[in-house]
Amino acid sequence: MGSSRPNQLNTTACEILLQEIPGEVSLAYLISGCPLGCKGCHSSDSWSAANGESLTVDRLNSDCEKYRGLLSCVLFLGGEWQSTSLAELLDECRKMGLRTALYTGLTYCPSALRPLLDYVKTGPWQAELGGLNNPNSNQRLYDLQRQLCLNPLLWPTPAPAYAAVPAFSPQ
Ligand code: SF4
Repeated sequence: MGSSRPNQLNTTACEILLQEIPGEVSLAYLISGCPLGCKGCHSSDSWSAANGESLTVDRLNSDCEKYRGLLSCVLFLGGEWQSTSLAELLDECRKMGLRTALYTGLTYCPSALRPLLDYVKTGPWQAELGGLNNPNSNQRLYDLQRQLCLNPLLWPTPAPAYAAVPAFSPQ
């Protein structure tokens, strides 16, 4: 367990993911402190904001430098509850020429982060509906630049992405 300053984001896991954002090689950070408490969450060990290591701009730069030329995207698994700190990291990703993605359990893309994001996945985990690979899922993966819903690309029998306008505020 690490120490934490106010508004600082901590991460409990950092890995390269190839499938979470179609077509991108993503460096993904699991951010500590998700307040949503979904039943059946696979990451409940990250619910305490004090868990994990500090994710500073310097740490982000160092990790991206390690994989320079291999990455195309940085994916934040949570962190929207500290939007100022997350915005700072997203801005840094953009400066490095990387695309940006957020997985949030909210049902909408936080409007303050929208200009800094290329992709967003919305929706809390609901086991009975399944994840993005389930056509019945409540979750949605959007390409914000092209205004597309990418869910069908991840179905067992893939289908074309479809035009969609993501919600930017609570419904
Ligand atoms: S939004 Fe994600 S991390 Fe947060 S409780 Fe739900 S499943 Fe877990």
